[in-house]
Amino acid sequence: MGSAKSLEALQSVNAPDARSVVRELDESDALDEAMTPGGEFVAEELIVQVIPQAGDEFTCYSCFLVRHRSQLAREKNGHSYCIECEG
Ligand SMILES: [Zn+2]
Repeated sequence: MGSAKSLEALQSVNAPDARSVVRELDESDALDEAMTPGGEFVAEELIVQVIPQAGDEFTCYSCFLVRHRSQLAREKNGHSYCIECEG
């Protein structure tokens, strides 16, 4: 009787309370990430795109990814295309 009652108590404690606490933690975490470091990440990405690419790299004009020179498949009208886009 004693053990069954404590098990029941454990389950009732685990079910609603623990879950709602976890959910609240998740939500506040997500909010923090969206507000503080998220903005810095966007800024870093913009800076990376402005910096001139290295000499052995090119930016594919089709998928706009920076590729290594070895992945250059075609150059047309001054634009470079990678092997994945030219297939
Ligand atoms: Zn491409």
